[in-house]
Amino acid sequence: MERIVVLGGAESGVGAAVLAKVKGFNVFLSDNGKIKDEYLATLRQWDIPFEQGGHTPELVLNADEVVKSPGIPATAPMVAALREQGTHIISEIEFAARFDKAKKICITGSNGKTTTTSLIYYLLKEAGLNAGLGGNIGKSYALQVATEQHDYYVLEISSFQLDDAYDFRPDIAIITNITPDHLDRYDHKIENYARAKFRITRNLRPEDCFIFDSDDAITIAQLGEIVVKAKMLPFTQEKEVPQGAFLRDDRIVVRYDQEESEFFLQELALGGRHNIYNSMAAALAAKATGISNEVIRHSLKTFSPIEHRLEPVLSIRDVLYINDSKATNIDAAWYALECQTRPVVWIVGGTDKGNDYSILDEVVRKHVKAIVCLGVDNAKIHAAFEELVGKDKIVDTLSATDAVRASARFASPGDVVLLSPCCASFDLFKNYEDRGQQFKEAVRHL
Ligand code: ADP
Repeated sequence: MERIVVLGGAESGVGAAVLAKVKGFNVFLSDNGKIKDEYLATLRQWDIPFEQGGHTPELVLNADEVVKSPGIPATAPMVAALREQGTHIISEIEFAARFDKAKKICITGSNGKTTTTSLIYYLLKEAGLNAGLGGNIGKSYALQVATEQHDYYVLEISSFQLDDAYDFRPDIAIITNITPDHLDRYDHKIENYARAKFRITRNLRPEDCFIFDSDDAITIAQLGEIVVKAKMLPFTQEKEVPQGAFLRDDRIVVRYDQEESEFFLQELALGGRHNIYNSMAAALAAKATGISNEVIRHSLKTFSPIEHRLEPVLSIRDVLYINDSKATNIDAAWYALECQTRPVVWIVGGTDKGNDYSILDEVVRKHVKAIVCLGVDNAKIHAAFEELVGKDKIVDTLSATDAVRASARFASPGDVVLLSPCCASFDLFKNYEDRGQQFKEAVRHL
């Protein structure tokens, strides 16, 4: 019996282990750290042998094939040892797709993955299709392949999942955009990062679709380097395209297979220029899936914003508090600021990922009246914006409660308090969700 060893015992690893078990492999799961109780319960329920708190070489190195969780870096000693001896290492999506005949709509990119993935899933459900949602969101794809039956999957896919994918092939592949993020895992070279994202296109056939942002210079540069054998469906806010999505007056125009459809911007549930891109990508995926314009129109109109992404929290004394905690890089914060129509008290800061704040100069000058830093080290933010907003309009805080209180002092009726930190959260919070939750709690207690 072929031996499959799974490295990593969280959502994707445990899902892969269950699938391997269901498919009759001799499976073993090994985690260097501690496995969470819920995952331990699943492993026991399926009678899957495992170890935690370290990898035993004899139990791992005898694998015929290894499924590596995306969180484990390629440089980890056990991964290096496996490579050294020539063992095939794959990701969960690569493994799961071998046993899955459903049509797959797969979304990767730097920003907008979760929004676009959730919107497409919503569109498919509204159209009455039997679809599963997975990848980086919610339940593991492999677990669903093992235990459920779907005709479609909408999968959010990180570049780490793509790094160890070889034969994985979506029917519709989407790259939302490519901006510098996670560059530390790619030798600080944007070409390496872009190439990793483009692995999503490598097995596309002429009948498959590739949906991409043609306003994005990095995407276009990378497209110039490779051949993609699929129907090319660009989306753009800059010019008209013969196939794809573009803007005309107050509407999105989608051209697909000789047909032209229109969707009014005013009717989009999600605000902001970035969400026009996300809505265009979703509408194109829906057209390519054969969904009617009525369903697309209705879905774009009724989709609710997801938590921590430009999520309106409360309006207090006519000051609107918005939680955009998921904005962990400059580009996301740029879009959040750009789409504000009221003066902004901006809560920013956290663990800096090598941000170049000068990119935000113009939107800050235009929209921001005061800055509340929420981070341990705010020196770069002060250096970038102190002169712009004024020395008395920028303060430092170390907790969500203090940040919200300081913002309330700066804000007047008609203003917006926007948490859009453009930094990771690990200096003061567990993760971006924790930061968003604490922000919302603090707002509710004002
Ligand atoms: P991801 O899953 O790729 O991190 P999300 O949909 O969770 O993307 O959004 C992350 C952050 O980026 C949020 O702050 C959101 O408002 C912003 N954002 C969403 N879509 C885009 C886009 N197309 N371009 C730039 N920023 C975006």
